Amino acid sequence: MTNFYITTPIYYVNGDPHLGTAYAEINADAFARWHRLLGDQVLFVTGTDEYGLKIAQAAAENGVTPQEWVDRTSERFRRAWGKLDISFDDFIRTTEPRHARTVQEFLSEIHRRGYIYKDLYVGLYCVSCEAYYQESELVNGRDCPVHGRPVTEMSEENYFFALSKFNDRLIELYESNPGAIIPETRLHEVLGFLRQGLTDVSITRSSIDWGVRVPWDEGHVFYVWYDALINYLTAVGYGTSQGTFDRWWPSVHHLLGKDILRFHAVWWPAMCMAAGIDPPAQFLVTGWMLVNGEKMSKSLGNQIDPLAVASELSPDALRYYLLRANGFGLDGDVSMESLYRVYNADLANDLGNLLSRVVALSMQKGGGVAPAVPEIGGDVLGAGPLVEAAVSAWNAFKPNDAIEHAMAIVRAGNALLERVEPWRRPALDPESLDALGRVREGLRLAAAILSPAIPRASAEILSRLGFGARGELRWTPEPGGAALEKGAPLFPRVVK
Ligand SMILES: [Zn+2]
Repeated sequence: MTNFYITTPIYYVNGDPHLGTAYAEINADAFARWHRLLGDQVLFVTGTDEYGLKIAQAAAENGVTPQEWVDRTSERFRRAWGKLDISFDDFIRTTEPRHARTVQEFLSEIHRRGYIYKDLYVGLYCVSCEAYYQESELVNGRDCPVHGRPVTEMSEENYFFALSKFNDRLIELYESNPGAIIPETRLHEVLGFLRQGLTDVSITRSSIDWGVRVPWDEGHVFYVWYDALINYLTAVGYGTSQGTFDRWWPSVHHLLGKDILRFHAVWWPAMCMAAGIDPPAQFLVTGWMLVNGEKMSKSLGNQIDPLAVASELSPDALRYYLLRANGFGLDGDVSMESLYRVYNADLANDLGNLLSRVVALSMQKGGGVAPAVPEIGGDVLGAGPLVEAAVSAWNAFKPNDAIEHAMAIVRAGNALLERVEPWRRPALDPESLDALGRVREGLRLAAAILSPAIPRASAEILSRLGFGARGELRWTPEPGGAALEKGAPLFPRVVK
């Protein structure tokens, strides 16, 4: 049995769940659901990042303790993902005792191995990023490239991680294993960064105390980025359960946005190497969703609220649109107009109508029972090669391709019925029955392939067509005769 361990970034609790974080969750969820469908053992982990200066500040502004603040804000993420049918197996909060234990074990090991040392750090610091910048990275030599506000010069006695010692090993890791970062453009970006040479990085703060304590020096806490990355080990029992750890590590797939690529693909594997464990197996890097070529932002007023879409249409509608809209890893445009257009064309018309037609025709003219699925024969739907291509696409983390192959079966099903026109015949003759049986099986296969994207509708399709929970990913003849269920339109058309 294969193990499939997938993670999302853990989200900073001061933010709101938005389309970008929903996009990461939906992709990771789809991959997790796909591997469950294959029969793999799946561990899907998400969570919230709860330490750092900004969080302590926000708690103070709201007149509560930091712990009260993060309890409240973390819950919003858990609730939001529930509304999008995100099927995570574990939700890590970095303020949990299990996480502090793993962080302290892991970083103590790196310290023992001689890769952490104390030094005075002087640097240009952005409070909002909680990160130091090189002068060359600043806008106008003065402002944070993310926030556009001036950085401040800070100096403090810090512990440093000897990142520079891992420069060559990281280059070798990615040169010998180019599939470790998807898509390939991000691999080249990381290699380019590595070839410029790495400098050591400060990993602790003594100026704040809302963080995980440095076990060998109580006056310091770990810098929030280091502690956050380690959640990927907390979830698999690093330092507490060797058996669990060996089962899931290092064959992990980290899904992340391209804006946090360096933290993940440079610092994180180096930390693993420094602690004497294997680096993570793979990074799946998503692009940005743009509106008319611009990033979404509150100030531009061009945001898409994922929870509003899920409640207006359905979680499936949002999931389908986001997975289909752009190739995984690429930037691409999204908008409410194109969401409604795709919803009506693909889900309401092509998929929803095909289901209604098969069920209605079999009920009116076929005695209300499911038509038999014939041998694949000439495969007029092209289901054989399309299913194979869809399986490969899901396995290669290409949801939009997998969806496209499933929808090609659906469109072929509609074309077949248009050609045979069973509705013009007084009763279901052999040709009509053959066509309806083929379309029924084509819909089953399409529903299976689409189930990671639209889990609710897929289950409904199988049940209305009298298939129960059958999930074979190949054409499977069967005698028919099961009861069919008529129901409300699966995806009611929207008029805007
Ligand atoms: Zn900043």
